[in-house]
Order: sequence, then C-alpha cells, then structure tokens
Amino acid sequence: MPTETFEFQVEARQLLQLMIHSVYSNKDVFLRELVSNGSDALDKLRLEKLWDDSLDADVSDLHIEIDIDSDARTLTVRDNGIGMSYEEVGRLIGTIANSGTASFLEELREAKDEAGAEGLIGQFGVGFYSGFMVADEVTLVTRRAGERQGTRWTSRGEGTYQLETVDDAPQGTSVTLHLKPADPENQLHDYTSPWKIKEIIKRYSDFITWPIRMVPEASATDDKSDEAPEPETLNSMKALWARPRDEVSDDEYHELYKHIGHDWRDPLETIRLQAEGTFEYQALLFLPAHAPHDLFTRDFKRGVQLYVKRVFIMDDCEALLPPYLRFVKGVVDAADLSLNVSREILQQDRHIEMMRRRLTKKVLSTVKDMMTKDQDRYATFWREFGTVLKEGLVTDSENRDAILAVASFASTHHDTEPSTLKQYVERMKDGQDDIYYLTGESRQSIENSPHMEAFRDRGIEVLLLTDAVDEVWADAVGEYEGKKLRSVAKGRIDLDNEDEETLEGEKEKQTEEYAGLLGWMKEQLDEDIKEVRLSSRLTVSPACIVSDAQDLTPALENMYRAMGQ
Ligand code: ADP
Ligand code: MG
Repeated sequence: MPTETFEFQVEARQLLQLMIHSVYSNKDVFLRELVSNGSDALDKLRLEKLWDDSLDADVSDLHIEIDIDSDARTLTVRDNGIGMSYEEVGRLIGTIANSGTASFLEELREAKDEAGAEGLIGQFGVGFYSGFMVADEVTLVTRRAGERQGTRWTSRGEGTYQLETVDDAPQGTSVTLHLKPADPENQLHDYTSPWKIKEIIKRYSDFITWPIRMVPEASATDDKSDEAPEPETLNSMKALWARPRDEVSDDEYHELYKHIGHDWRDPLETIRLQAEGTFEYQALLFLPAHAPHDLFTRDFKRGVQLYVKRVFIMDDCEALLPPYLRFVKGVVDAADLSLNVSREILQQDRHIEMMRRRLTKKVLSTVKDMMTKDQDRYATFWREFGTVLKEGLVTDSENRDAILAVASFASTHHDTEPSTLKQYVERMKDGQDDIYYLTGESRQSIENSPHMEAFRDRGIEVLLLTDAVDEVWADAVGEYEGKKLRSVAKGRIDLDNEDEETLEGEKEKQTEEYAGLLGWMKEQLDEDIKEVRLSSRLTVSPACIVSDAQDLTPALENMYRAMGQ
C-alpha cells in the first residue's frame, strides 16, 4: 500500500497548533504521557492473552524501553504491548476521542487569550500530542498483537499526517520524537541526557507496574568492549497502595491519580484503606477536583481499577462502588480473587458486596471529614459532585443519613452560601415543624414564584432546589431528624398554626362569602384543575396553581414524559 496523507480533524489540528507553539514550562510531562500509553498497552495485551490463549502474541517479557540517540537527536519510547491496527491508528491518533481532551478544547474555546490557553495545558491531559511540545516530527510504528502487518504514522503536527504499512514492525508500538534543536541557554530541557530521562521517570512514572528500561547509548560506553550495553530498569515498580503510608509522598499518590484518572490536575483528596482478615484487600481511592463533562452520559466510564495481587484485571469496575460514586478514581487490589474473574461473577460475589459497602462508607466519611476540617475543599467537592451524590439519597437507603449529613443546598437564608439541613433546623422558628423547599429551574425563577410570597413575608427559610434529582430525593427521603420535608408548592400549608382555630373559622366564613366566585372559576377551568380554594399563602399575586401533595411536580412530569413514561 502506498503512503497515504490524511488531514487531522479540526479539533486535533487546533490542539496540535497549541502544542507546537507552546511555551508551557513543564514540558517534561510528555514522557509521562508516552509511558502511560505504553503501560496501558501492556495491560491490554496481558488481559487479551489471558482471555484468548490462542492469540499469537509474545507476552514473555512485557516492558517499556526508552532509547536515546543524541547524534540524531531522537528519543524513542517503545512497548511490546497490544499495538494498533492500520484502522486504529487513524482513528485513535488522528482524532480526539478522549473525553478529557474534549473538555479541554471546550475550555480552550472559552479562554480569551494565549496566556489562558497555556494555563489550560497544565490542567488537562492531552496525551499523545504532548510529544509535539518537544519534537518537530513524530514517527509512530506499531503492529497489533496477532496481526502480521504493521503501520507507520508520521507527522510534523501541521495539518496532515502520513500512514503507510510496514512489513517488519515488531509487536507493540514505538514512538520516536525528533527533538527540536537544542537550546544552549537551557540545558534543563535536554531530553537526550540519560540523567534527565531518569529523573523524569522517577518523578512521574515510578509506580508503573511494568519495567521501564533504558539502554545506554553505544558511544557512551567503552568502545573496545564487544558486549551489548546492559539495559537499566528506571522505575521501582512498587505498587503505591501496597507500600506503608509514611513511605509514600503526596506527589507520588498524585502521579498515580493522573495516570489512572487521565487527568493532569491533582486530586482533591486521597483515600487509603487496608482490609485484613478472611478477605484481604487494599484500596487507594481519589476524589477528583473537577467533574468530567460526561459524568451524566450513559456510557460514562468509571474510574476504579481492579487488581488481583498487583496484577491489573479490569478498568471501570462497576461492582466496587455504587453508581452515585462513579466519579471516584482509584485502585482496589484484592488478594483472594481469581485472575479470570468476570464482571458477572463480581456482581454476585459476597465478599465484593462487603467490600463495596465498606468503600462506600469510607468515601462518605472522608467527605464528612472534609466538611469539618476544610470548608473550602468541601465546598469544591459539593459544587462538582453534589448533584451525583444526591442520586444516592434515592438509591441507597442504607447510607441515606450519611449522604444527608454531607449535603448542602441553596437557601433563602443566604444569597450564595449553601446550607446543610442541620443548619436549617437550627435556624427554624418557634412553632415551625417542617423543613420547606421549592424546586425549579433556577434560583431566580424559584425566588420569583408566587409560592414564596407568604414565606418571605413571614421570614421563613426555604431551600431552593434546582437539580432534577431534587424532586425525587425530597419525596423519597420524606423527613430529616423528625422534621418533614415539605414542598411549598404542594398541598395545604398553614403558616400561622398558632391560631389555627380562629383561622379555620374565618376561612369557612370567607369561603361561603366567595362561594359564587369559586364555583364559577371551577366551572370555567374544569378541564385543567381539581379544585379552587382560598389561600393565605399569597400576599401580592392574586392566585397560584398548587399541586396535591401526592401529585407530580411540573418538572418531574416533564422528566417522566421525556423518558417516555
Ligand atoms: P488516552 O491515553 O488518554 O486515551 P492518548 O492521546 O494518550 O489518550 O492516546 C490516545 C489513544 O491512542 C489511546 O487511548 C490508545 O488507544 C492509543 N494509543 C496511544 N499510545 C498507544 C500505545 N503505545 N499502544 C497502543 N495504543 C496506544
Ligand atoms: Mg494516554
């Protein structure tokens, strides 16, 4: 097949331009990205071979290798992992499929100036393309395990890339960076220096569970010796979750998070758990600092990986945490599972069930700690993940109280600061028995609702709930510490219950007085309403529409209708 030239997707081109012209100071991270991809590729091959023993692939010495050629000014990162087919190279390397990169570009469009764009590089993983920060040409040669023909991909990052087939490619992938000319002013960025490479690997990739080797350059060793230079393994390969807490620095944990979370930013919180006894496991979990943009899409990938005795078994392990904690990233390493364990088996395993319950409680108690010890961090957490966590109020009755304890809501008490239910109850007025809330599209639309008038007049606090899930959980939960949760838009609400009797008498008299009008209104609106009644809940608006306490609210009606029910 002749060499074919293809154009990068528009988004990919945009991203590449940014990489090529980047003045982002921390360029070292390109190596972390290439090593991370190599490690993923080795994991994938080992698993595929485990499932399909007939796969024609060599898994005897899986590793990553780094070669430097200082005369040619090239740096090559090679793995003997799964590799890619011709079609895969075009699809995976020529386009931007990665969700983190997609949200990166979204923010990039919003960034006004170049400085803003530069700042964004540091916050997002741009994966493979980050090589173009240090190279003016990149060549990738790959052969998918089990296939005969290999593929070469070449690009200078400027609009197009070339693809051709190759006959003699080894299994796996090698990425060769043709480094930009050396900058005599800045020796720090000399990526042909073995010391520099060693230092970067130690800093960013030490925990990678596959050996990362470097072969010393021939010219650097004694010319007279005939022996090939011995490769040196650069990483310790120690699983961070298996090492004692005080031996591991926060930075090391953060680098692991970035690798498994495909995120360039530090996590908000690191959670460790060691379980001993009949079913031993270690867990290292992370709460990210930012919600991914696809958190609410159906095929959102969860972030917890399952290992068995240090061996990677699967990504996206849904059996380990409930759906409302799907944003949690991390690793769970269980000692007593079979390497062949399947998703179906995990779903039914009693030990896994116990582990899920324990991990769930641990995550929730960590959030609780954050709330008491570090208000700012808690506020970030709740802003990013509160909406998801509230799903648990409906689906996880066992942990309902723990979730309610860490939940906070916008309230008429304060314009910007959210309130917990505990704080709401402490502020309740004498004689107020219930917790009031109103749901709606936005804070402003709720505050403008006629339902709010009487509450505003009487200075009674109302929680202002704007997420779709709020409708559902408030009904499902029903009460908090013996106080009923009541929508101000539903049913009869008597705000002046201290003189209830006189009020009832008064109302009866008034109702008689207005019987004619009410009857006429009922007749006119019969198609659309159940009843017309006098109300004490309005002070300015002449009338408002109220649902029965057991009726669906308008937003829920819409939601169910959208779901086709
Ligand atoms: P990410 O790793 O976050 O998916 P990258 O830009 O780093 O994003 O890589 C894009 C995709 O290209 C990967 O998901 C993978 O499918 C493929 N890929 C990259 N490097 C390799 C490699 N060394 N071996 C096999 N596939 C690779
Ligand atoms: Mg990657």
